[in-house]
Amino acid sequence: MNTNPNDMSCKELVELVTDYLERALSPADHQRFEEHIAKCDWCKLYIDQIRLTIKAAGKLTEDSIEPHAKEELLEVFRTWKNS
Ligand SMILES: [Zn+2]
Repeated sequence: MNTNPNDMSCKELVELVTDYLERALSPADHQRFEEHIAKCDWCKLYIDQIRLTIKAAGKLTEDSIEPHAKEELLEVFRTWKNS
């Protein structure tokens, strides 16, 4: 496991996903985001699903990402990290 403190956590990634998709992240955060996706299958899948949702909806809205779904994902990460 990479312990670099600059590495983005899954939780942080989930929280930044809308900014990422809106290209609102700073270049440094954008890079950390992409580095995380490159090595984390969970988050890669998560981004793929959100992209599909946005494609279906036509645009990114508050409703595009269900708060409930986001909470469920964070719970999965918590369980996963602690196991
Ligand atoms: Zn991740």
